[in-house]
Amino acid sequence: MKRIMRRSYLVLFVALAFFGGICFLAFRVVTQSSTWIQHPYNGHALASDGLASAGEITDRSGTKIAYNEDGQRRYHDDEATRRALMHVVGDKSMQVTTSIQNMYRAELTGYNFLLGMGLPSSLKSNRDVQLTVDSDACKAAYEALGDHKGACVVYNYKTGEVLVSVSSPTYDPENAPSYEEIEDSEWYDGVYLDNVLSSTYTPGSTFKIITAAAAIENIPDIFEREFECDGSIEIGGNPINCTDAHSKYGKISFEEAFAHSCNVVFAQLAIEIGPEKMKETAEKMGFNSDKVRMSGIPIAKSYYNADGADENTLAWTGIGQGFGDYEDRANPLRMAMIAGAVANGGRAVSPFIVEDDGSLADKLGIDKNKDGDTDMLKPSTATQLQKLMKAAAVYYDSSYGIKVGDLPFCAKTGTAERGDGKAETAWFVGYSEDANHPYAFAIVVEEGGSGATAAAPVADAAVSALVS
Ligand SMILES: [Zn+2]
Repeated sequence: MKRIMRRSYLVLFVALAFFGGICFLAFRVVTQSSTWIQHPYNGHALASDGLASAGEITDRSGTKIAYNEDGQRRYHDDEATRRALMHVVGDKSMQVTTSIQNMYRAELTGYNFLLGMGLPSSLKSNRDVQLTVDSDACKAAYEALGDHKGACVVYNYKTGEVLVSVSSPTYDPENAPSYEEIEDSEWYDGVYLDNVLSSTYTPGSTFKIITAAAAIENIPDIFEREFECDGSIEIGGNPINCTDAHSKYGKISFEEAFAHSCNVVFAQLAIEIGPEKMKETAEKMGFNSDKVRMSGIPIAKSYYNADGADENTLAWTGIGQGFGDYEDRANPLRMAMIAGAVANGGRAVSPFIVEDDGSLADKLGIDKNKDGDTDMLKPSTATQLQKLMKAAAVYYDSSYGIKVGDLPFCAKTGTAERGDGKAETAWFVGYSEDANHPYAFAIVVEEGGSGATAAAPVADAAVSALVS
């Protein structure tokens, strides 16, 4: 009898475990199937009945940038525009994981839970998507980047619309290089990465925007102070030099120190502010966080660390050149958001790239990401930073003839050492003050050298195309 009871329990246990497993599988199918369909290894969604049945993707003016013709996926008519938009749109390799065609493949192809991919086209809901990007401006930015790797992003800091998003290296999605060509070529290193969203770079002097914010909020008399710079200072037995074009040696105000990118002053400020306040300010401005997304697409985390740093290291982090465990890293879209927050009285509006009046955005519940908007800066701090970035822009205009679409602008350049013998990473971060063109931008040109000469012209090209 005992044995029978024991066996009954065993049978009951096995039955329950089996039933539980079935329930778990059913639950996973219901909740996860639309994600599974998007995986690159899911071959049939890639075949002619996959992307070739996907909806149309248009830019902000309704220009087709991806569509189907005779069962083939086609892209924009112009090759340079196709290259410029390859990372935003994606291609049949499905290797650019952050692209719209990767992220939203199930929605674009009309995948249905009950019928899979088999729903007749006539029964599929509207699968077309409109993006916020301007394809002409993306092309202009791509051409201005020329033979350099890098990134250019421009977004509307009032609404959050991403207008330009270009990453280089890239290729023509209609004539994609083979895997072998990509493997064998140094130029194609990192080609599947969208540098706007997924890369981080040493920020160099563009990080002085953050150090300046920390100084304004923690040093009450910062604007009354007079500093002294003779081009070099020794901190912790290690010299920090003013390498940027810097003719203002001698007595220098905080505003002049920012405009002329004085390393001597900003290195000392980082030490005076201290590691806790430096980190606190950087984190308020979005460093060390990966919470904000662009239309559901992840944005790489920017890094700032000063915990336990010695004086010399802390000084280097304050000018965007930290190293080792204290290496500053900034994502281009994050820097554009910071510039936008300065322009916007301290409020950072979250970027989005899928027009929210499109059916796709509705279906996915993608709105304007308003939940992600944050107050990065006190309004008074933002006003002071505007003055600093204006002073810098006036200096860039008079010294280098820098223009940004002939709009009044505020900006900060960066020329970041790479430490691997290659030429510096050039940065240009800022915004237009024109109320009708509220654009914040960040440009990175790898091995570009000076931010003023290599990166600023890319901003001008992109913004000029948006304004025209
Ligand atoms: Zn200096």
